[in-house]
Amino acid sequence: MDRTPHSLLPSIQLDIADWFSDHARQLPWRSADCSPWGVLVSEIMLQQTPVVRVLPRWQQWLERWPTPAALAAEPAGEAVRAWDRLGYPRRALRLHAAASRITEEYDGEVPSTVAELKSLPGIGDYTAAAVAAFAFGVRATVVDTNIRRVEARLFSGLALPSPSLTAAEMTLADSVLPLEEAGSVRWNASVMELGALVCTARSPKCSDCPVRDRCAWIAAGEPEPTYQPKGQPWAGTDRQLRGAVMAVLRAASTPTPWDVFFTPPVLLHEASLSKPLKHLHALGSEPSRLERILEDLVKDGLAERTENGLALPA
Ligand code: SF4
Repeated sequence: MDRTPHSLLPSIQLDIADWFSDHARQLPWRSADCSPWGVLVSEIMLQQTPVVRVLPRWQQWLERWPTPAALAAEPAGEAVRAWDRLGYPRRALRLHAAASRITEEYDGEVPSTVAELKSLPGIGDYTAAAVAAFAFGVRATVVDTNIRRVEARLFSGLALPSPSLTAAEMTLADSVLPLEEAGSVRWNASVMELGALVCTARSPKCSDCPVRDRCAWIAAGEPEPTYQPKGQPWAGTDRQLRGAVMAVLRAASTPTPWDVFFTPPVLLHEASLSKPLKHLHALGSEPSRLERILEDLVKDGLAERTENGLALPA
């Protein structure tokens, strides 16, 4: 703990846990009967997408694929289709690859240790720690953007954590994690929730915070951030164009001929123009740029070039 006396830690842990008991959102992946697979799916979906958008997709996903084996039995393209507009669809491919590995090597059961989880394709340090903690009650240091922000303010007096995770932050996170397993799981969940609901990035609601009187950032006079976080531009980016192409592929039940992506809509038969295709054309991309995007999607495994055109992967 950089600036906060160690003697304050037990009361901070207790007060944040109490706040969590009163204010935590009821989310299905937090319910006692949620399977480890449900927790794993939620963690991957939540990485770059807000809860409100994840909820309906998560529910549909678990209804359709209640186990890793159920997902592994279908083509990866179906996972990409069901991912819909959650964004960063490579996560769907990673989830499919993880489901296949779990089915083949772990008898269809999500493994419970951080090391085993990290050995699954596409599962990094954060996801492995979060699934071990929230699905299996393991004491693991979970460090997501919300936890990083709360701990930077509460313990280090900084307005924001550094742009990327540092070794010092991990040391801090390790040092404030309760030693006992149940307490550690509660700490991870409650600090994450405090960051999501109260200690938010742009305007923390410090008057609602249970540890305001012990917060190092408040004690330091609420200093300004030392850098401006980069926003995530969308309009005009490759991400927007990739999203538009993926929407065309998801909506199509057969491969989309390559030239259809490049033919002006007035030259296409109205019946062959899906709404996503109209949207893609409305973005007015240069053909060379669009071609590069299509090639990149193939390289990334999100699309497949067949003799009849472009399609989701088989
Ligand atoms: Fe965050 Fe404000 Fe609470 Fe400090 S007092 S932890 S800045 S919400």
